[in-house]
Amino acid sequence: MPTYTFRCKNCGEEYTTFTSYTRLEEVKCPRCGSREKERVYRKVSFSVQGGSSSSCGGSCGGCSGCG
Ligand SMILES: [Zn+2]
Repeated sequence: MPTYTFRCKNCGEEYTTFTSYTRLEEVKCPRCGSREKERVYRKVSFSVQGGSSSSCGGSCGGCSGCG
């Protein structure tokens, strides 16, 4: 089930919930119980493997980017 993060428009509480898309309207703020909310989109960060080898510009002579 997808995870949705909301910010309550009533009290400002941020909360994450597991629910189906069709039931988003029923999601209530856990603090005040309000259904007035806005969706919060978070950027998903992830590390790129081998990123250091491509940044040397072929000058270090020892990494896979210089081969
Ligand atoms: Zn609230």
